Amino acid sequence: MSFFDTSIEFLKGVGPQRATLLHKELKVFTFGDLIQHFPFRYEDRTKFYSVKEVTEDMPFVQLQGKISSFEMAGTGFKKRLTGKFTDGNGILELVWFQGIPWVLQKIKPGMDYVVFGKPTRYGRVFSIAHPEIEPLTARQEKAGHLQPVYPLSEKLRKKRIDNKVLSQLLHELMKIAPSHIHETLPDYVLKKFGFIHKKEAVIHIHFPDNFEKLAEAQKRLKFEELFYLQLRLLKLKLVRYEKYKGEVFGDTSLLTKFYNDHLPFSLTDAQKKVIREIYHDMKTGHQMNRLLQGDVGSGKTIVAFICILLVISGGAQAALMAPTEILAQQHYAGLKKYADAMELSIGLLTGSTKKAERKILHAGLQGGPLKILIGTHALLEEEVKFQHLGLAIIDEQHRFGVAQRSKLWQKNSTVYPHVMVMTATPIPRTLAMTLYGDLEISTIDELPKGRKPIRTTHQYDSHRLQVNAFLKSQIEEGRQVYLVYPLIEESEKLDLKHLMDGYESIARAFPDYAISILHGQMKPEAKEFEMARFVKGETKIMVATTVIEVGMDVPNASVMVIESAERFGLSQLHQLRGRVGRGAEQSYCILLTSFKLSSEAKLRMETMVRTNNGFEIADVDLKLRGPGDLMGTQQSGLLDLMIADLGKDGKILIQAREVAVDILEKDPELKKPEHHPIKTHLASLKKTAVNWSKIS
Ligand code: ADP
Ligand code: MG
Repeated sequence: MSFFDTSIEFLKGVGPQRATLLHKELKVFTFGDLIQHFPFRYEDRTKFYSVKEVTEDMPFVQLQGKISSFEMAGTGFKKRLTGKFTDGNGILELVWFQGIPWVLQKIKPGMDYVVFGKPTRYGRVFSIAHPEIEPLTARQEKAGHLQPVYPLSEKLRKKRIDNKVLSQLLHELMKIAPSHIHETLPDYVLKKFGFIHKKEAVIHIHFPDNFEKLAEAQKRLKFEELFYLQLRLLKLKLVRYEKYKGEVFGDTSLLTKFYNDHLPFSLTDAQKKVIREIYHDMKTGHQMNRLLQGDVGSGKTIVAFICILLVISGGAQAALMAPTEILAQQHYAGLKKYADAMELSIGLLTGSTKKAERKILHAGLQGGPLKILIGTHALLEEEVKFQHLGLAIIDEQHRFGVAQRSKLWQKNSTVYPHVMVMTATPIPRTLAMTLYGDLEISTIDELPKGRKPIRTTHQYDSHRLQVNAFLKSQIEEGRQVYLVYPLIEESEKLDLKHLMDGYESIARAFPDYAISILHGQMKPEAKEFEMARFVKGETKIMVATTVIEVGMDVPNASVMVIESAERFGLSQLHQLRGRVGRGAEQSYCILLTSFKLSSEAKLRMETMVRTNNGFEIADVDLKLRGPGDLMGTQQSGLLDLMIADLGKDGKILIQAREVAVDILEKDPELKKPEHHPIKTHLASLKKTAVNWSKIS
């Protein structure tokens, strides 16, 4: 057992009761956990200000001086104690509402004190309520320091474990810990990047001498964290690559036929590049594990089909699994056009496929004539048996289908099929490196030519009449319109009311047009009926909640109006906007908001107006929301980092990844002496942090 596995109970100043609190509130069980409980900010106690310099903007200020006199005012709850504080340059008030007897007993007028707190202005005088106050000591006079501020909980504070106590505990730990801290990075990596040693970094992350030291410690620890994350992902990839053989598909006869006779347009360079990458993988003799990402409308369908052609040429079958029934149907419709042209048999299997139909599909799959099967999770059922599955394509909204993914693999008894994960949610590069860090990544980063970019404007609610007039003119030209309402309240009832109010006011504004309505609480048949009416053009306006986000494809719809747009996240706005711009006509997106917007909401609107590029939007989104919120909670295992932030530390991540790739290329088993620290540290990591079984 290592020093860092020692129970926190045994640290001086902890004991069983505090230990229980630390377990419960901070998940701190051992010395190692506490040492990795990093401060989330630091208060600058390096500098003393003079009272004259104090301004309202200062979050905190540190002063030194004397209290000249105390004064009591008010009674009962309103009782307060005011101390006149002076440093010789000016006067400021220190105010206490609680603990007054303690203050009067401890703090002596005329003595020198160091005072720290948030200044507030009252008329011409500044005051600090409940300041931290300590007698001036020689140490403070000389140096001053950066005070770490640790994540805490309300409960801990109530039980008198405040920041001061936690800092004290870390002081105790750091008295005994340093000799046990071993270097975790190879020497040549430290030299290459000018990193400080691990021991020094840990000391300075808790008790930095100054901002420079702090920055060095942060840089080093962030790198280490990201390096080990990448190293483990890459090792996973490497192990899988070695372990799982893949069938070699090299016959391109069907592809040639498709190119010559049926290709409906010329492929974009990005599509060609991605197809080459995938074709290359399928010839290596190893199982392919590749992510295909591309913005809405970038043309993923035909890429998927061309890959399917390769495996069918080789005598195998292909499957595509989508997260929802609507998406499965859409993939089916998209691929069927091409499959029919090539006279290849294609089927659709979802939860609602009738028994008789299922039987036919099952037989076709096992016998071999059914070459392509599209579906939902229904594909994973026991009875679904392929004669020879060569390629499994998985359309993921987010990365949570890992377990299911491997189930699809196992549909083949001999060799695993190649796996392609597809996503239409653009993911910033740094995030993709982590969430999909164990996959190869192909990106379609270009839209087909001749596509008219959607024009996006941001309008205030007060311009609703003009917006309605614009919608009218578009409808008169034969177009159709979406009006989307956010899901705002916790209660579905309130949402529905919001939507219905909107529907009624639209119905009043457009008495001459038939209007569709679509929301999550409708029965599936009713939903389908409404969608069908809109698709056929019988209704001109679709009033809906975000249920239309996925799975609506109506090329004639050219306007997307988003109500209360400030309530949507960027990626959702972008997904919604992607519902238009699918036809030949100029399309529009109108973001309606109230007049009062937070600065963040403004930035979101500006970003939407400025660009149609999903990756650019995802980058802004990542910076605004942070990776956890962006991807939902499913990935928190991979994204719960202790010190690095994927939104801000992209550069360090890329460096860390490069180093990890380099090391695994040269020394995959980490046998070289210079990689010894890595091997040892990896072994100790295995027991902690991320639940790797979930992603492997
Ligand atoms: P995605 O699934 O990536 O959102 P789709 O595959 O549905 O996009 O393609 C969107 C539209 O663009 C479809 O109508 C498709 O036929 C068309 N398309 C795809 N690739 C091209 C291309 N290279 N040139 C012109 N049109 C294309
Ligand atoms: Mg698609």
